[in-house]
Amino acid sequence: MQTPASAPPPAWDVVIVGGALSGSATAFLLKRRNPRLKILIIERSAEFKRRVGEATVEISTYFLTRVLGLTEHLHEKHLAKQGLRFWFQNAATKTLEDCSETGPAFNPRLGSFQVDRAVLDEKILANALALGVELRRPVQVKDIVLDEAGVQTVTWSDDDGREGIEHARWVVDASGLNALLARKNGWHRTNTEHPIAACWSRWSGVKNWDSLELAQKFPNWARRTKSFRYTATNHLTGLGWWAWVIPLKGGDVSIGVVFDQRIADLPEGPSLPVRLREMLTSHPVGAEILADATWHERDVHFRRNLSYRSTVFAGKGFALVGDAAGFMDPFYSPGMDWITYTTNATAALIDDCLRGKPSAPRIARHNERFTTSYDRWFRAIYKDKYFYMADQELMTLAMRLDLNLYYLGVVTQPYKFGPSALERPSFASRESKLPGRFITLYNRRLAAIARDRLRRGAWGRTNAHHHTMLSFFLDRWLPLRVVGNLASYLSLELREGWRTWFRAPAPFAELPPHATRTRPRAIAPSLPREAPAHH
Ligand SMILES: Cc1cc2nc3c(=O)[nH]c(=O)nc-3n(C[C@H](O)[C@H](O)[C@H](O)COP(=O)(O)OP(=O)(O)OC[C@H]3O[C@@H](n4cnc5c(N)ncnc54)[C@H](O)[C@@H]3O)c2cc1C
Repeated sequence: MQTPASAPPPAWDVVIVGGALSGSATAFLLKRRNPRLKILIIERSAEFKRRVGEATVEISTYFLTRVLGLTEHLHEKHLAKQGLRFWFQNAATKTLEDCSETGPAFNPRLGSFQVDRAVLDEKILANALALGVELRRPVQVKDIVLDEAGVQTVTWSDDDGREGIEHARWVVDASGLNALLARKNGWHRTNTEHPIAACWSRWSGVKNWDSLELAQKFPNWARRTKSFRYTATNHLTGLGWWAWVIPLKGGDVSIGVVFDQRIADLPEGPSLPVRLREMLTSHPVGAEILADATWHERDVHFRRNLSYRSTVFAGKGFALVGDAAGFMDPFYSPGMDWITYTTNATAALIDDCLRGKPSAPRIARHNERFTTSYDRWFRAIYKDKYFYMADQELMTLAMRLDLNLYYLGVVTQPYKFGPSALERPSFASRESKLPGRFITLYNRRLAAIARDRLRRGAWGRTNAHHHTMLSFFLDRWLPLRVVGNLASYLSLELREGWRTWFRAPAPFAELPPHATRTRPRAIAPSLPREAPAHH
């Protein structure tokens, strides 16, 4: 639809589809840049329900606190998070105490939070409305018609059968997994290199990791760390899968598993929650902390093929933010970091374009940056990681390197350059390019070493009785720690890596059935080329 020269300007400067974290944050950022903008959010739900995306990390914490101004809210309504903790297992681990553990020795120095998204997202939406953003809710967007040369048209309907049309100079797709624009326009691509699935629920009656009960039962285990284990994101791991345990304010605990569909699956069982419980309690730590726990009946979810991205992130008059633009993997909780970058960059892009700055080069740079960021980020951190993330030695080394390099190349940026650094996504900026290359290299190598260990029956040797307590600081010694980690990595290459220097990693079909008792299913020999749509 072309706007005739005499037509009145559209009623809205920006219409945002979806009012959860990424939609309301974009509205808030735009209003703060230019209070005169007329912005409408259209949100389908009458109220937000709990959803995954419950752990923040350093970048998303910076965004929520220093940019969105939610420091008090986060401290009042959510929990201060105490880093990441990993629990490993093998045939020798009979109890929680036997399991190898990797995690912080002390409470981490950089803050982060365990959040209830139903509460957090309402707060961000309310803050956007307080700046003058308008809201239609509960109203579902049925269609978005783009017109790069003129006015964007958004069609909606509500539960009472009312229908309406909105016209705007810009439309922002923040519809999450629905990814309205990417799906409609054929930009949506499932990441077939990374076929992961997840199953999760919120639970009651989960044992507190720092309880007197567990301290009396396992005194040596309790003495091992000075940090709170309860408010960490605790990870249970098994070959091809991991599970998160995230406490929420008020006592409920979010627990779910994520697995690489090439390697693992939920065990057989009569129902989804029973299968989820079965997988979790196959791990000695899960068996201990879930002994008296129950899942919330109406809050059990399953989703396949989690990883995808859009091939287009913005054009003249439209942009995609948060999950509507792409999603990689929940491991290390990058979702809200991605939201941080997509919303900040999108608000800057739209504001610049509405102020009459040349749009074509800005849009081209935006698309180039996010395409590069997603692809490098995925290759660096996630590609084939499920082969080694449950091997204590390999994962502990990776975690040291990943975290220190994430600090060095990514987390330092907003502290050095301020919030404008959040407009340049991870691994696409100059500062994060080199760390990204190095992470990609060792991630590929660790996956190859893990596959070789599986072939030789040497995988997971250190998964029992190895305890690594780590410290992570953003201080001047960070580069030195990276050098130390690099030395550990080179030593691994010399001791063992040489076996795979000149040989391709074993194909899945050649990997023998492995000794771990948690591996739920034989390794699949091949992958479907295009994974089926989400369930
Ligand atoms: C298993 C799993 C675990 C995760 N764990 C973490 C984690 O620990 N930390 C982290 O940072 N991230 C995590 N993530 C990612 C995180 O959940 C998402 O990145 C985040 O919730 C996306 O927020 P969003 O606002 O983009 O989309 P959503 O939260 O999905 O919001 C989209 C909104 O759009 C609305 N909407 C949709 N369609 C329409 C329509 N047609 N009309 C009107 N409104 C519409 C919806 O009602 C919804 O409110 C996880 C993801 C998964 C799958």
